[in-house]
Parts: sequence; structure tokens; C-alpha cells
Amino acid sequence: MNKRGHVLNAALLAVGLGVMVRPVPEVETLAVVAELFVPIVLGALFPDVDTAFGTHRKTLHNLPVLAIFLAYPIYFGNLQWVWVGVLSHYLLDVLGSKRGIALFYPLWRREFGFPFGVPVRSRWSPVVTLVVTGLELAFGAAVIHWLPAPMAEGALTLLGVR
Ligand SMILES: [Zn+2]
Repeated sequence: MNKRGHVLNAALLAVGLGVMVRPVPEVETLAVVAELFVPIVLGALFPDVDTAFGTHRKTLHNLPVLAIFLAYPIYFGNLQWVWVGVLSHYLLDVLGSKRGIALFYPLWRREFGFPFGVPVRSRWSPVVTLVVTGLELAFGAAVIHWLPAPMAEGALTLLGVR
């Protein structure tokens, strides 16, 4: 996926998750959306830094990098929500392109993707971006609304989301 697709995905994800976290329309909902927007968009842009440093779709497109971003809110109490953007970037690259990403790099250089992905420059790329974003928001809604409340609260608190 290209940068435009990743930013569109991250922006829609931030707004959707913000509204889910604070569903009653009020000033606080806008504050939550603003709180999520920049970290998620920055996280969504981060993996493609490996186009300049390292090997694209390998160096910064793998599970150890995601684990580092997950660890920051837990151990240092900062960079909350950035991991959502990184994870979303990975999902979009895996589901929305033919090439895939090296999930287990540097241990395994193989790139994993799905056969129904579309080329990055395809006219279907924006459609795939919106479909993947919809699936991500549906998953977010399931976590927020369907998990037993103590489990959902505990997981979100652990990850620095609440
Ligand atoms: Zn990428």
C-alpha cells in the first residue's frame, strides 16, 4: 500500500476508534479522536521508513518491531496508540497488496501476504483500503463491546489505551 492509503486508513481508524471509545457525541469525543489521530497516523507511516533505512517490507515490517511498539506504553508509559498504526500498516500491506511483509524478519526473510491482494498502484487499492479499515473497526468494536468488560478494560489499560 502507498503512503496515501496508509494515512487514509489510519485517519479513519483513529476517528472510528475515538467514537467507539467515547460514543456519546460531546467535546470529550473530539478530544479522544485528537488524542488517537496523530499517534495512529505516525505509527502507520513508521514501517515504510525502511524504504530508506534497511530492506523494504522486511526491516520495519515484522512482529519484533510491533512488539517494541507494544512494549512502550507498558514499560515506559508513552507512545500509546502508535502500535495501532503500526499494526494497521502491517494488515494493509498483508491484505491489500500482492507482495506481503516479512513478519518474522530477521529470523526468516520470507514475505507473507494473501493471494487476493491488489497491486499498490491498482485502481482497486482505495477500495481494499476501505474494506481493511472496516474490518479493523469491526474488530475494534468487538473488543470494546463484546469482550467481558473486565477483560476489555484490563487489556486496554495494559496497552495504555485507557
Ligand atoms: Zn509498508
